[in-house]
Amino acid sequence: MSAPPGADPRPGSQSSLRSANQQRVLETVRRHGGLTQAQISRRTALAPSTVSNIVHELIGAGLLVMEADHAGRRGQLITFRGSAGHVLGVDVGHRHATVAVADLNQRILAQRRHDLPEGHRFDEDLRLVDHSLQRLLEEIGVPRSGVLAGGLTVPAPVDLEGRVISAGAILPAWSGIDVRAEASALLGLPVVVENDADAGALGEHTWGAGRGTRHMAYLKLGHGVGSGLVLDGRLYRGATGSAGEIGHSTVDERGRLCRCGNRGCLETFVSSDEVVHLLAGTHGPDLTLADVVDAALAGDVGCARVIGDTGRTLGVTVANLCNTLNPELVVVGGELARSGELLLGPLREIVGRYGVRGAVRELRIEPARLGLQAHVAGAVIVALQHAELPVGPPRD
Ligand SMILES: [Zn+2]
Repeated sequence: MSAPPGADPRPGSQSSLRSANQQRVLETVRRHGGLTQAQISRRTALAPSTVSNIVHELIGAGLLVMEADHAGRRGQLITFRGSAGHVLGVDVGHRHATVAVADLNQRILAQRRHDLPEGHRFDEDLRLVDHSLQRLLEEIGVPRSGVLAGGLTVPAPVDLEGRVISAGAILPAWSGIDVRAEASALLGLPVVVENDADAGALGEHTWGAGRGTRHMAYLKLGHGVGSGLVLDGRLYRGATGSAGEIGHSTVDERGRLCRCGNRGCLETFVSSDEVVHLLAGTHGPDLTLADVVDAALAGDVGCARVIGDTGRTLGVTVANLCNTLNPELVVVGGELARSGELLLGPLREIVGRYGVRGAVRELRIEPARLGLQAHVAGAVIVALQHAELPVGPPRD
């Protein structure tokens, strides 16, 4: 059994081989959550006896444990020990920040959602996150030193180095800030920054509606509109990290000016502001998107009409996306997705009309199973991907 190329500074030494194989086992458990030893063996292509030795070493080192498999599969599940380490997940939106602490098995142990004022500032937000993290750690009895990394999602494009490209109109007070560097310094942790739609795609692909799919698109419908793409089982970011910015695809080139500087972007027709604005005249100026969805579900004809029209408008862009990328699943996330078939029925109808038959015949369009949790779940996943596990390579 050989180590992957480039993984070993001293090829051939017993120690480096064992270390590389240990890393493969840990990476596999980290990526897939609890697995049996047989599953680890298949996924790493390591011999069952090698996996068994490594698993027992890592159990001895206090990093892994064996758990009974409650799903009824044969064999016991190998998972991370609860005390092996934790990560921070933060989802910052236009008017909220959700802060969560998870263990290395991606289980969220404690979480709090904070409402934020319009135009909230980066430094104040980070102080709030820092304070909230401390409170959550106290609640679950975990020391600050046990937090290995943080993931922070933002409603803005993020480049391949994890820098926020432009916070623009959604987080104006975050513009021009090196979010990754400043958040890492303030929180005293390595922090990874991720676009919220990409995080939602990761969350739904790992734990939600997209489990087991190879090609899926996640649509984020909110104050901003975007998508995260999982292609061939991996998040697809594109050349510069801007893949999936469907909120700025042109629907009407003579339409309203968009915050991106173009006119008539999809977002100007289907953002939460636009949905609420269309109903303000008849339903009052203090209406929120949650009110609109509740009213529509309770039978309000006007609210249902606006949500249905939103699904139709979205459908044209989603059909184009499907004609280009041919995903097997489109997951719709954000508050509006709570309206279920009122949104998804018209969306499916238009995708069926404009999608080429080969691309949409087998396509499923479903609401996000994690609901509003999808983004913070994704923040936890990116934190875990970058957390340095507290096990060093064994010495000779
Ligand atoms: Zn735009």
